[in-house]
Amino acid sequence: MSNITVSLPDGSDRVLPDDATALDLAAAIGSGLKKAAVAAVVDGEETDLTTTLRDGAVVSIITAGTDEGRHVLRHSTAHVLAQAVTRLFQGAKFSIGPAIENGFYYDFDLPGGTTFSDDDLGRIEAEMREIVKANQPFVRSEMSMAEAKELFADQPYKVEIIERVEAADADNDDAAEVGEGGVISAYRNTDSFVDMCVGPHVPSTGKLGFFKLQRVSGAYWRGNEKGPMLQRIYGTAWESKQALAEHLHQLEEAAKRDHRKLATELDLLSFPHQLGGGLAVWHPKGAIIRKLIEDYSRLRHEKGGYDFVYTPHLANGKLFETSGHLQWYADGMYPPMEMDNGTYYPKPMNCPMHCLIFDSRQRSYRELPLRLFELGTVYRYERAGTLHGLMRIRGFTQDDSHIFCTREQLAGEVADLLDFVLSVLRAFGFDDFTFNLSTKDPEKYVGSDEIWDEATDALRTALEKHGVEYGIKEGDAAFYGPKIDVDVRDAIGRSWQLSTIQADFQLPERFDLEYVGADNNRHRPIMLHRALLGSIERFFGVLIEHYAGAFPTWLAPTQVRVLPVAEAHEEYAAGVVEVLRAAGARVDTAVADDGLGKRIRNAKLEKVPYVLVVGDDDVAAKTVGVNPRGGEVERGVAVDAFVDQFLREVHDAESAALGA
Ligand SMILES: [Zn+2]
Ligand SMILES: [Zn+2]
Repeated sequence: MSNITVSLPDGSDRVLPDDATALDLAAAIGSGLKKAAVAAVVDGEETDLTTTLRDGAVVSIITAGTDEGRHVLRHSTAHVLAQAVTRLFQGAKFSIGPAIENGFYYDFDLPGGTTFSDDDLGRIEAEMREIVKANQPFVRSEMSMAEAKELFADQPYKVEIIERVEAADADNDDAAEVGEGGVISAYRNTDSFVDMCVGPHVPSTGKLGFFKLQRVSGAYWRGNEKGPMLQRIYGTAWESKQALAEHLHQLEEAAKRDHRKLATELDLLSFPHQLGGGLAVWHPKGAIIRKLIEDYSRLRHEKGGYDFVYTPHLANGKLFETSGHLQWYADGMYPPMEMDNGTYYPKPMNCPMHCLIFDSRQRSYRELPLRLFELGTVYRYERAGTLHGLMRIRGFTQDDSHIFCTREQLAGEVADLLDFVLSVLRAFGFDDFTFNLSTKDPEKYVGSDEIWDEATDALRTALEKHGVEYGIKEGDAAFYGPKIDVDVRDAIGRSWQLSTIQADFQLPERFDLEYVGADNNRHRPIMLHRALLGSIERFFGVLIEHYAGAFPTWLAPTQVRVLPVAEAHEEYAAGVVEVLRAAGARVDTAVADDGLGKRIRNAKLEKVPYVLVVGDDDVAAKTVGVNPRGGEVERGVAVDAFVDQFLREVHDAESAALGA
């Protein structure tokens, strides 16, 4: 028997017997790696651990605790789910079952239109545990389309996918099922269960086990509302008991923080059904916070050298033809209104109107960069099934800016923008950021290579100047320019994409925008789109969840509540309210109709930052008992001393926010 030599990611070589598999390699490196291994990358291709290695191959091992490893675990667990369902529900058909963020799902069609109940999830999960215990192998085979159609003859959804591949009509949904070049592969666990799949998979079901089924929902086959409605089972799967427990704990925390629940409890806003899906009304307590967010945003933009503009909510369709929205964004727009012999649309974006402002007269290079800013309300069609509180809504207001600059100004402008974006986000309590740079899709772009390189360099340089780590999404940019996305991490570790800095080489072209340069010639400006908080609605949703409704004092709708112990102290309490109100605090009182304990509890439920209790001693000594949210009670605090301390706290937050 001869040997083979393979290379490892660190550049070192390993000599192995000539029938060695990727798993043998992992074992040869160490028992810990063998245990953690779930798949391998051989010569750049993800593959099963059971793959026999060839001489000269470059091999790395995918372990369970990595993103790639979790993907394999999750997708393998989806197969186990499908097998369990087919074992428990005679005649169940299964369609697709991909890994998704944090978990997986699988779509099923049950005979006679039956649906899963929540009780079924427990039964299915128990069956899955049996399959894991049986340690069934995942055995890969490859076949022709004809063979595949025969093998999956009683699985119509699989047959449909094969037929789409045959007709060269496959899409992203099919990518996990059928490999490049239309190679059909299948993974068999038992004589009676086989699933069409690209893989890779864990070597056997015994490698799985840290999973939980979560919920059932309806899902249209291929997302087509006219197609059959399938039953989708969602689950989560992890590399260890601890990782699973942490994730489930995070979900519990997230449920407690759900902005829809808190918005009701704290009387911030509501989504009345009479209003229609995806539309909210803001109650006074939500509206005051929104006003504070918007005031702050306006103040920062004013200081940041932006010019404020206003634009209408409707526009003639011709505008959206010029901008291209009707060509490439029609799905996201509302149906048109016919009037005055014209066709009008609610605007899905503010950009075209800002282009009109730029184009309203001749522009000189001396006016650039021209930074137009608007809290602009836009309307975008979202399918009913995708609406989610404030996070996905059908009408929203962007803190939207369009910056027109020269090519020479681009790098400096982007660097300043990044400073500006981070400083505003920090003011709202976010300090953990992730950055992604999306670069040119070589298949699909407008503008010259030179300008793409220049703009991409400007974005990259800005990120590097800030010394931040960033991911590069190669080829992920929109066809009209590269962009930076800024994500923030919230208090429970979830990531939210908020800000975007997007270069655009297309709109200035479409609107034929020009400025007169120092050379007296006409030049095309570069346009940057920049949404900072993104949508005010969604940002507010993120903020509610980040703070679990306990807003910092400067944003709290009620900052102080004064509680008289008994009726005799009401007059004194009213005086304290007056002093605080005169000092600028948002303050109220609750008279002694209810017991003090109940009133304190209510204030805590409303997450009021300061509760001041006043009784006999306070009236005599001109003091208050200070009961801060989440802090220790302090009795006998002089009213003036509290006012000073309160104002300092709010002022410090504001001046920190303003970078003063
Ligand atoms: Zn699979
Ligand atoms: Zn824009």
